[in-house]
Amino acid sequence: MLYNELGKSGLKVSRLGFGTMRLPTFNSNADINETEASKMLEYGIENGINLIDTAYPYHSKELDGDGNSERFVGNFLKENSYRDEIILSTKSPSWLMEKKSDFDYYLDIQLDKLQTDYIDIYLLHSLTVPDWNKVRELDVLDFLDDCLASGKVKHVGFSSHIEVDYLIEILDEYPKWEVALTQMNYLDEYYQSGVMGLDYLKQVNVGSMIMEPLRGGRLVQNIPEEVQKIWNMAEVKRTPVEWALQYLWNRDDVDCVLSGMTSLEQVKENIKIASTEDIISEYDQELIREVARTYRTFLGNRCTRCGYCMPCPHGVDIINCLNEYNIAHMMNDPKASAMQYFSLIDDDSRADSCVECMECLPFCTQMLNIPEELQKVYEYFGSEFDHF
Ligand code: SF4
Ligand code: SF4
Repeated sequence: MLYNELGKSGLKVSRLGFGTMRLPTFNSNADINETEASKMLEYGIENGINLIDTAYPYHSKELDGDGNSERFVGNFLKENSYRDEIILSTKSPSWLMEKKSDFDYYLDIQLDKLQTDYIDIYLLHSLTVPDWNKVRELDVLDFLDDCLASGKVKHVGFSSHIEVDYLIEILDEYPKWEVALTQMNYLDEYYQSGVMGLDYLKQVNVGSMIMEPLRGGRLVQNIPEEVQKIWNMAEVKRTPVEWALQYLWNRDDVDCVLSGMTSLEQVKENIKIASTEDIISEYDQELIREVARTYRTFLGNRCTRCGYCMPCPHGVDIINCLNEYNIAHMMNDPKASAMQYFSLIDDDSRADSCVECMECLPFCTQMLNIPEELQKVYEYFGSEFDHF
């Protein structure tokens, strides 16, 4: 295993972190196959992984409810006496906060589920701009100060899928951030905060953890023929997982890549890759860019995310509705995109809020019939998340 400094936190983390949102399950997402999952965690830790990441809602029945991932991780660490060897990361459910006391309420529940007195890295989970504004109003920064002072939390940060300007705004507001978790893979360089966000994190010496390195597995499953042809031209032959992970570890602004692993084979494969120094040549880097361009030809519509149609007077988040639809087509993965669609876009900003007033039509730079495209989005995702 190879290790990196996690920004200014002083932590030395394995460059592969163990994400626990896709553990093996039986019949439902909430029903973790604990025997298999324990073997995976044990193998991971014994072979160098020192960071485990979980969150309040992981492995819950609903998308954002009380999940079993923290409970399982807590039991596992306690039973195997691993707690002190592990950097434990979990996340505060920002969307559930309604009053100031809720921050402590959920933290105490999480400490209880995790069977520990302290959390090494506590992230405000999946901050959207409205959630950030809400928790800011509820004095979240005072709460974080108190957590750090009491020792219940050693390092604080946030996870987010927001655009880079908001990321920078949040980073600039609080000097005690030490970690940020953002989405990144070779398809997403200019999606959400992307490479510009990573560059800023490096500048301010905030540790960068990466989520969705394999795009929920879509970069490594059912590889389209057009993509495989490009990989076949590489100077160094790599598996799709190697391409995706080594791409990230070739960046000097990536400290730790979280992988949500589902089987022991995946753990073994990822650890082997994480333990190998593999410098990607300029020629092979260009192939990665070519693969990304090829994936983009599978998009569901021509929206360029330019934003000229916004704001919609009826509150529809046109850009992100069309974008999640596009990604679902590009990656042929409705479930992963549906999770993003329903968790990142507010109820009253989804496609079914379009009233077909046509006010946005003259502004579309791509001459899209936006309400028609939104109708396709609605027909594709529906009005509630039922993809488990
Ligand atoms: S047509 Fe739909 S998306 Fe466009 S402005 Fe009207 S409500 Fe908003
Ligand atoms: S104006 Fe058209 S291309 Fe630009 S973001 Fe809106 S829908 Fe997409």
